Amino acid sequence: MSDLRDLYQEVILDHNRRPRNFGPLEAPTASADGRNPLCGDEMTVRLRVEDGRIVEARFEGQGCAISKASASMMTEAVTGKPVDEARALFKKFQDLVTGKSEEDDAEERLGKLAVFSGVREFPARVKCAVLAWHTLKAALDRPGAIISTEDPSGA
Ligand code: ZN
Repeated sequence: MSDLRDLYQEVILDHNRRPRNFGPLEAPTASADGRNPLCGDEMTVRLRVEDGRIVEARFEGQGCAISKASASMMTEAVTGKPVDEARALFKKFQDLVTGKSEEDDAEERLGKLAVFSGVREFPARVKCAVLAWHTLKAALDRPGAIISTEDPSGA
């Protein structure tokens, strides 16, 4: 797991510096806003869903390095995926960062996203890491919603 830990720093820094899929999306079919008041992270996730598949995912906003890197990697991970798979990935990611699933085979289940297993040691940052995923889920379930990590019904 020490390899994953080293990679964690590296990947977060890289995605924070050069976030992928950052910026507006023309003609989205769904979007939602996410807030993490504990840290001050705010983001908008916009999707273009066609025939049950996420063909484009982009985000905009401001926040800490972890929230930004997580959003960047979330958009990469779900682009091209059927909506059902994206939902399943959200659950796997949440289980990983909240410590509900083992780290040992995380890479098999989550690919590159497994680097976020490092977050479980910093409970205050878990909400930063899952914000993009909660916002994605809101865009799929309740387009136009504004969700907050501090509102259990919203997040
Ligand atoms: Zn944050």
